[in-house]
Amino acid sequence: MSKFSNHNFAGQKVLVRVDFNVPLDDKFNITDDNRMAATIPTIKKILADGGKVILMSHFGRPKDGPTEKYSLKHLVKHLYELLNADAHEPATKVFFADDCIGEQAYLTANMLRNGEVLLLENLRFYKEEEKGDEAFAEKLSKLGDVYVNDAFGTAHRAHASTAVIAKFFAADKKMFGLLMEGEVISAEKVLHQAEKPFTAIIGGAKVSDKILIIENLLERATDIIIGGGMAYTFLKARGGKIGASLCEDDRLQTALDILEKAKAKNVSIHLPEDSVIADKFAADANTEVRPSDAIPDGWMGLDIGPKAVGIFSEVIKNSRTILWNGPMGVFEMEKFQNGTKSVALAVAAATATGAFSLVGGGDSVAAVNQFDLADKVSYVSTGGGAMLEYFEGKVLPGIAAVKE
Ligand code: AMP
Repeated sequence: MSKFSNHNFAGQKVLVRVDFNVPLDDKFNITDDNRMAATIPTIKKILADGGKVILMSHFGRPKDGPTEKYSLKHLVKHLYELLNADAHEPATKVFFADDCIGEQAYLTANMLRNGEVLLLENLRFYKEEEKGDEAFAEKLSKLGDVYVNDAFGTAHRAHASTAVIAKFFAADKKMFGLLMEGEVISAEKVLHQAEKPFTAIIGGAKVSDKILIIENLLERATDIIIGGGMAYTFLKARGGKIGASLCEDDRLQTALDILEKAKAKNVSIHLPEDSVIADKFAADANTEVRPSDAIPDGWMGLDIGPKAVGIFSEVIKNSRTILWNGPMGVFEMEKFQNGTKSVALAVAAATATGAFSLVGGGDSVAAVNQFDLADKVSYVSTGGGAMLEYFEGKVLPGIAAVKE
């Protein structure tokens, strides 16, 4: 594997796997361009060196080959705008090929001049992409002299363009892009070089989604804070009365096992001592604060309470490494956002005094953005599923293939 920032791309055709899987409204307007914007520094470095950029991405989940709805052509205009936001620089030309392999793709790639960009049509118009088909990967590989993987969001998939393709490039001709490199460095820092105390904050709706990550973190963290809907399965397993709160009854034993293992490994598990409870799952519900293990029938815990906020914030502020995945409550509703917001503020405060903090996973990322704290934490991951699998201890095919 080569290092992206040391590489001079002058005159080279650089095949870059990006994650342009952005949401569109029904008029094909992009409603959130974060994934595109995140990879612009990688593209600009190649262009600044005098290289040619060939971008490939998946887009949505097309079932039957080419479909208008899933065409990447809808993104060309915005890509042009992102690349040409600075009016002082000469405009970067952006071309589109309506196939990701085949004659037109090769001809356009070969016609590109230094400093120009080509976006290929959706990789998933070929079922071979998700199957990790070798012949398809080889055809894609012929489009570039160098392969750059900047798609962390799909690094957990062994697809043709994310993993299999890497074998067709020599070690010095494949590398991570700047986005991917940032993700990998941050994740490795937390998983393998964490300064102690290391606190993992795990929240969200379901225990079943987070069992593997908690088990892996039991080997590494000093403290695990459990909030959100998933906390009530643990509280019930310990004999608490949780009323109508979210609960996975088939996971009660798993929750007890986790609590036992934590004790044996000397990891402190922090469950919310109190909760903001509601008489219905609605923004206009009546609310009260009660101990989390004494919730009346018909009421449900929808946020952590003030005592829990105090205790969790203390633990977080005393940490040197922090990993946060999942909200502390139904933060989408104003009445139940205090827990998530307070935790976000505590993570920001710890970061300001030198802790390394990584926020990963869709809803906690949405939360730090909502509270305008994204630039107050050390790293915000763009790859939800990929980051989760990384912290479950799995090898991500997209990372392994480039490192080989
Ligand atoms: P996840 O995707 O598993 O991280 O879960 C995120 C979702 O969990 C968010 O939409 C939250 O609204 C929801 N959530 C968090 N806390 C609770 C709770 N106490 N009860 C019900 N849903 C919750």
